Amino acid sequence: MQEAVKIMYRIQSLEIILEETRIVHRDNLPPQYATLQETIETLRSQVPEEYLARYDRIRKNGQAVVNLVNGFCLGCRMAISLGDQNRMKRDEANLICPHCGKFLLLV
Ligand SMILES: [Zn+2]
Repeated sequence: MQEAVKIMYRIQSLEIILEETRIVHRDNLPPQYATLQETIETLRSQVPEEYLARYDRIRKNGQAVVNLVNGFCLGCRMAISLGDQNRMKRDEANLICPHCGKFLLLV
């Protein structure tokens, strides 16, 4: 699952760039805009459907993928137990915050 979360994190970063480009350029979108959209589509095809559905649902209200830093989810600032962290690192548990439900990127 770690690989899928990394890809979703890249998708999210590109989506944020797209959003900013839309705000700045409005009706006069630069050629890179379409290229970015294509890159996002390519990346999305590499992520399992079930993750994408969850990703899209959470993305409507902000970031769907957040960093797990020093045992804390940066989405909700809550601590993740050491046991959960270890299971996540071994890919034995879903990389999903038990508190806010966002995807966790291990850093
Ligand atoms: Zn959280």
